[in-house]
Amino acid sequence: MTDKKLIGVDLGGTTAKFAIMTVDGDIQQRWSIDTDILDEGSHIVPDIVESINHHLDLYNMTPEDFIGIGMGTPGSVNSEEGTVIGAFNLNWKVTQYLRRDIEAGTHMKLAVDNDANVAALGERWKGAGENQPDVAFVTLGTGVGGGIVADGHLLHGVAGSAGELGHVTVEPRGYECTCGKKGCLETYASATGVVRVARDMAEEYAGNSKLKTMLDDGEQISSKLVFDLAKESDPLAVKVVDRVSYYLGLALANVGNMLNPAYIVIGGGVSAAGGFLRKQVEAYFEEFTFPNVKQTTKVRLANLGNVAGVIGAASLALQFDQQ
Ligand SMILES: [Zn+2]
Repeated sequence: MTDKKLIGVDLGGTTAKFAIMTVDGDIQQRWSIDTDILDEGSHIVPDIVESINHHLDLYNMTPEDFIGIGMGTPGSVNSEEGTVIGAFNLNWKVTQYLRRDIEAGTHMKLAVDNDANVAALGERWKGAGENQPDVAFVTLGTGVGGGIVADGHLLHGVAGSAGELGHVTVEPRGYECTCGKKGCLETYASATGVVRVARDMAEEYAGNSKLKTMLDDGEQISSKLVFDLAKESDPLAVKVVDRVSYYLGLALANVGNMLNPAYIVIGGGVSAAGGFLRKQVEAYFEEFTFPNVKQTTKVRLANLGNVAGVIGAASLALQFDQQ
């Protein structure tokens, strides 16, 4: 086994996280920089290159000490070409040639995939997925994303959209989604989705509820507040969490029925609701899975937090070890 290292880069709309890791997935160094999205995001790639080169200098390392760089990015990624397009939170409107530019700037090989897929790889490798060959991952944040590892391979599909769990239809003709479709999981189970469900259910709710009072008073609410109130047994908040859990349980059950992974891992900001959310999702998951899947596929919470992305990104570079 090589003692060469891996570099992971997890690019997001506010920060880019970096890690130097061993091939066994142990983090040796970590740092991050702010993402400068000005000027159509044209500073992002040069900043990443400069930060990597600077830290190699700092640690007295050279490109020869590394197998390569793995990177996760928002947007539609073409892994074969090493390009990305449509990352609107980075102001990237035209195709970005990540592999070409980062390889030229660092003299190391680059592998790239989308941010949800690298988070899935991270949780599968070093997190709740326990390095099982079959693991599905769903991330609940501003949006809902996902990634699927089947028989040890990350699924991409014919156009890179495999594992986009956020756009699984859970309510035919339901809420309108940014993708143009209706009733997507993302419209109910993202942070904004939970708030939207709360607003709509509040309109029809007649009982006593702190959540209802706050909404009626025009106060700003968050998904976290909804979960916190549900934990305190606020009757409307309990109903909202039940509705959200139903949609999540339904979507994840069908992932289970299709793929029978060892684990379906729930991550992202909304999953901070923890065991409270997991238990309720699991109840619906069990209702909607058939017996063999119910007995063998487990719903778990992610346990790497925000380093899942950078760990999974680094693991992309392992492919260069065999070359
Ligand atoms: Zn959608």
